[in-house]
Amino acid sequence: MRGWAAALRAAASGPGLALGGFRERFDFGGRDVASWFPGHMAKGLRQMRASLRRADCLIEVRDARIPLSGCNPMLQEALGVRPHILVLNKMDLADPRQQPTVLEHLKQQGCSHVVFTDCQRDGNIKKIIPLAAKLLGDSPRYHRAESTEYNILVIGVPNVGKSSLINSLRRLHLKKGKATAVGGEPGVTKAVLTRIQVCEKPLMYLVDTPGVLPPKLGDVETGAIRDHLVGEDVMADYLLYTLNKQQQFRYVQHYGLARACNTIEPVLKCVALARGRTQKVKVLTGTGNVNVTTLDYPAAAYEFLRDFRAGRLGRVTLD
Ligand code: GDP
Repeated sequence: MRGWAAALRAAASGPGLALGGFRERFDFGGRDVASWFPGHMAKGLRQMRASLRRADCLIEVRDARIPLSGCNPMLQEALGVRPHILVLNKMDLADPRQQPTVLEHLKQQGCSHVVFTDCQRDGNIKKIIPLAAKLLGDSPRYHRAESTEYNILVIGVPNVGKSSLINSLRRLHLKKGKATAVGGEPGVTKAVLTRIQVCEKPLMYLVDTPGVLPPKLGDVETGAIRDHLVGEDVMADYLLYTLNKQQQFRYVQHYGLARACNTIEPVLKCVALARGRTQKVKVLTGTGNVNVTTLDYPAAAYEFLRDFRAGRLGRVTLD
């Protein structure tokens, strides 16, 4: 990992540091932050394009804690042309006080159909399909006599909860008995099995085609790919900066710190010690090599990010 200490110093010093208080500005040190999310998604997007063309309505899923970023410009283009519902999932982990501000920002960006959801508790899931039905009904583009069925496509970057949402919708609409999974009988091809009828009037299907969504990675891998583009140390520092700015100090208690910290170094040290994140480093000396045990700061940074993602550091909205 390239000079994490230097990167942290660069990020923590300079005009952004408020004397005696917390930083008021975060210095990314010239890193291309705009390419955090989309970078590894190019392949998934290519596969998605064909499906996008066939979709009548898009459900874009974002993490409610990062409601304004995380959308690929290529998707944005496709999103403009058809009914588009923005699902802000994991609302249980986001700061509920920020909801009106977030909605206002999104409206200014032309995004007025927004639903906050919690897929783990099926929160607000039942609002989605009626909203899609209304939008399709209102859209002159879809008053096509020859077409009486609609395909809904679920899109979003990895780990925002697309699979969870699809499963929640499936649970909800199949349980009611109004909808049937197409191809439920033996002998029907597997490809058809991935279309789920979620509404009768109008006839709507949720398309869950393998390959439409970016390749499924485990939580750990997804986090790692995204974070390595910037360095988890810098991300951890940015997270700390944000937590402080929003007066979210749960991390102090969570890691047993004496007080809130303005720089990430003491936090990571504490995490590394508490979780036993150490590494053996070979040091060359004049009389031979010595193995020294040092704290593994990148691993600690990763733990810090993971704790945040899991909601263990409080309910926070980042944008
Ligand atoms: P996908 O990669 O977009 O399909 O995301 P998944 O559906 O696999 O979800 C990623 C992780 O987020 C999983 O560990 C889910 O359990 C979790 N998750 C999904 N929805 C929610 C939610 O509304 N709240 C919380 N707290 N976690 C969620």
